Amino acid sequence: MESLERFIIKKDNNMKFASRPCPVCNHHQADVLHTQRFELPEDHPLSNGYDVVVCLQCGFIYADTSVTQADYDRFYAKYSKYEDSKTGTGGVENPYDWRRQQETAHQIANFLQNPNASILDVGCANGGILKALQELGYRNLCGIDPSLTCVENTRRLGIEAHQGSLFQPFKEHVFDCIILSHTLEHVQDVQGAINWIENNLKSDGVIYLETPDATRYVDFLYAPLQDFNTEHINHFSLKCLTNLMGEYDFALINGGSKTLAIGSELFYPAIYGFWKQNGANEYNLTKDENLRNEVEKYIQRSAEILKRIDIHLQKALARSPKIIVWGTGQLAMKLLIETSLAHANILAFIDNNPINRGRTLKHIPVIGPDQLQDSVTPIVITTMLHHQAIAEQIKQMGLKNEIIFLAE
Ligand SMILES: [Zn+2]
Repeated sequence: MESLERFIIKKDNNMKFASRPCPVCNHHQADVLHTQRFELPEDHPLSNGYDVVVCLQCGFIYADTSVTQADYDRFYAKYSKYEDSKTGTGGVENPYDWRRQQETAHQIANFLQNPNASILDVGCANGGILKALQELGYRNLCGIDPSLTCVENTRRLGIEAHQGSLFQPFKEHVFDCIILSHTLEHVQDVQGAINWIENNLKSDGVIYLETPDATRYVDFLYAPLQDFNTEHINHFSLKCLTNLMGEYDFALINGGSKTLAIGSELFYPAIYGFWKQNGANEYNLTKDENLRNEVEKYIQRSAEILKRIDIHLQKALARSPKIIVWGTGQLAMKLLIETSLAHANILAFIDNNPINRGRTLKHIPVIGPDQLQDSVTPIVITTMLHHQAIAEQIKQMGLKNEIIFLAE
């Protein structure tokens, strides 16, 4: 097990006073489960690492990051990877993503049963859920997103949208339903977010929340530690979400888990629920005793995968010390600091998302596929989700470079 320690940095005495209080219950005493590090592009405004901790009072798991909500607001306004309709999600162009959002819209419509309901989607990305609701006959729709490009993409679908965030004044008490779908796991100031929702919701309104399901990360492990990334800093179970909402007198009316198809044979675990304010009923927080075990299994299995990747990369780099790296995503940012890739002679990074081009990583430029001149240096593909598609793209481009995958 000694060799796994490079991938799981765990202290003997792993209790700490977290600098970020528990987003669910405000407690500061936490156990460190894992320390995550990232090799970030030079101009990246977020932190290059954090402890993943479990709250000793309520069992919630979160990143003890020093990055502030204001930093995250700036990040999502400026660097939104969701902007590019081809590589981003939350729009209507990717068929799997569109289907996912149609299913969510169906769930919401089934619950509301009222096409006149005023609905706000916070973090609407490219407007997919709202578009799907519109197709179901809903007409009182509105989106809000920190990225202006996302707002423009949503407007292009014929839907009202505004640039903004959960921390700027909006419309008071006008919405029958507020949706946060795959948004709350990105929020540093979670309680501020719930306050904002409460302010913008009618008193009898309903909140729809959907986030990744941290109790099932281990069952959908395609890439090591994929859920501990620069953006996902809250790891919910339905119990933890219900604890959070209970503090604001919101009771779970209907909720559960679902499995999202995000690609051909690619799935992602999520939880969802509808919450409504229940007046005077006092809520008693109960600790989630299960989440920690499941996330610990996930960390352990991830470390094993990371170790296998490293052995594989070591062999490849021994054959060809000079390489080109395809992809600058979340896995690349980990491999570049946790594996032999940290010391490799990298000639260039290639990335399909235009938002990453022109940036530098380890002082090496990030270029688009069309800018690649070199046809002899091996290319390491640093994704385990889309590696086949990228290999196909390289072939289509007529490039003769050897392709190195992360696994045999
Ligand atoms: Zn807590």
